[in-house]
Amino acid sequence: MAEKVLLIYTGGTIGMGRNPLTGALEPLDFNHLVESMPEFRQLQTSVEVYQFTPPIDSSDMDPRLWAQLVRIISDRYDEYDGFVILHGTDTMAYTASALSFMLENLTKPVILTGSQLPVGQLRTDGRENLITSVELAAYKDKDGHAMVPEVCIYFSGRLLRGNRSTKKNADGFNAFDTFNYPHLCDAGVNFDFHNHHILQPDFSRPMTPHFAMDPHVVVFSLFPGIQENIIRHVLDAPELKGIVMRSYGSGNAPQSPWLNGLLAKAAQRGVVIVNISQCVAGKVEMSRYDTGFHLKKAGVISGYDSTVEAAVTKLMFLQAQHSDSHIIRNLMNKSIAGEITI
Ligand code: ASP
Repeated sequence: MAEKVLLIYTGGTIGMGRNPLTGALEPLDFNHLVESMPEFRQLQTSVEVYQFTPPIDSSDMDPRLWAQLVRIISDRYDEYDGFVILHGTDTMAYTASALSFMLENLTKPVILTGSQLPVGQLRTDGRENLITSVELAAYKDKDGHAMVPEVCIYFSGRLLRGNRSTKKNADGFNAFDTFNYPHLCDAGVNFDFHNHHILQPDFSRPMTPHFAMDPHVVVFSLFPGIQENIIRHVLDAPELKGIVMRSYGSGNAPQSPWLNGLLAKAAQRGVVIVNISQCVAGKVEMSRYDTGFHLKKAGVISGYDSTVEAAVTKLMFLQAQHSDSHIIRNLMNKSIAGEITI
């Protein structure tokens, strides 16, 4: 029997067309996409479609829509061998990271893909991205289990762990990478799976969906000249529960007493402050330099080699699950879906 894959079309460049009045690209109905792709009819895998109405530019993605994606997948989990989500590239790494936490013990592939050029254009990268994603979502190992039971991003010949991915190029076809984790599969003439890097869930246990995210978080970057009054307004916001602070190098920050004081005050009232690096590769080691060590003393925790997308969505996920900040801090220091290397 042919494998079955559910294709969830959320929007993004892949299905966009040009507005004749403004000349700008805007999301189109999925039927337009199917008409532009006769390859659909040649696929060995049976593909069914769920379409967001209206389709969105991924700049409009939010936690409510992540919950909708979790609902779509969990309600149909037993009917399909895998899931492909067509998504704009701009926030694809955030959605992939969020879903990796929200779909606990995932035993089937959930592959996000999209394209840099609409599928109707001659030089589009969308056809290959879409067709290969469907093939990967249907791929089984010799025991009949999904070959890649993870939330992934497939783009330009590479299958990447979703919560390790970052959009690195606004124009190039090779738009995503995982700077701190190897590829899960390279798709050339054949699929070259890197098995020992692929997560292995407990296939005897069910997948547990989670729908809640608590977005009371902020991300801020350090830079020379950062101003106390501006940061004070952010850190003193009473609704704030989590901070992702993008520091320098291996987790360093200026030694200004005001910054330390504000961070320590926030940490004392239970705000979870996660230190991640502004560098795309490498990890935070707060004990390496004195400029990192004083952050540790202020109550800032290490985000290790996390991407900003994984850190912020993991905080949202944990804040929705737990009210005790000690538990959240503890879980931020563990890999819960392969997102960090401890
Ligand atoms: N703005 C588009 C989006 O993220 C870009 C893309 O699809 O690549 O929806």
